[in-house]
Amino acid sequence: MSDTTTELETLLMQRSLTDAQLLDATAQAADFRILPDATVIKIGGQSIIDRGRAGLYPLVDEIVAARDTHKLLIGTGAGTRARHLYSIAAGLNLPAGVLAQLGSSVADQNAAMLGQLLAKHGIPVVGGAGLSAVPLSLAEVNAVIFSGMPPYKLWMRPSAEGVIPPYRTDAGCFLMAEQFGCKAMIYVKDENGLYTENPKTAKNPTFIPKISVEEMKARGLHDSILEFPVLDLLQNAQHVREVQVINGLVPGNLTRALAGEHVGTLITAR
Ligand code: ADP
Ligand code: MG
Repeated sequence: MSDTTTELETLLMQRSLTDAQLLDATAQAADFRILPDATVIKIGGQSIIDRGRAGLYPLVDEIVAARDTHKLLIGTGAGTRARHLYSIAAGLNLPAGVLAQLGSSVADQNAAMLGQLLAKHGIPVVGGAGLSAVPLSLAEVNAVIFSGMPPYKLWMRPSAEGVIPPYRTDAGCFLMAEQFGCKAMIYVKDENGLYTENPKTAKNPTFIPKISVEEMKARGLHDSILEFPVLDLLQNAQHVREVQVINGLVPGNLTRALAGEHVGTLITAR
């Protein structure tokens, strides 16, 4: 166990960077959160943005009202245009890294459009994962929009199978929340939360108000309402130990979720 910088440095100079004792020593410092008062919300691509006005106008009103009392990092999904691009690119046998860039461009388009809707409220779109403008925007206008796709681009780690990039906008938004040590992560989609089966196709799915990652995997629900790599990110997270998935088509849900109410499905790390 290392309790001084010198000890840590000694370990780092001598050991493999994946050495167990070294890793333990790197985790000894007190917990530090970069943006502890901010909440990340992800506005779904296919589930919300692709609905255009009907999906977005009511949410824009809620966001504008909410930022009086909350600090919001607003990430955008990609959706149907990305799926169209993936189908063409995969048909051409292009690699995951290329598909990741194509998907990013659609999340960018959605961030640009949401940015137009929120412009008159002073809420800017920030580009790039550097996000150098985030702290200033949060301090000045309590909100900022970002494109939800993580910027792995060509360096996207491919799946074992196929060329669809495994870390897409659900993962990108989760990682923002976790890395910045944010207060909460809310996924705004078009169903009340998680069901025992896909409610778009199943006859009698049962709603699940709260579930752990382990339980989701055990029940075969790991590839359902969130991109499945998010579950592993959540399980290993230091700061964001639960996420809520809510129905953004129900007026008031986002406002209530931001206030800490349980209005959708809570997915917990443990
Ligand atoms: P986004 O727009 O954020 O990308 P998705 O469309 O990828 O969101 O994910 C939300 C969709 O997940 C829902 O519209 C629903 O059809 C689907 N889904 C699949 N399985 C389930 C399930 N078991 N419970 C709830 N939704 C599910
Ligand atoms: Mg999705």
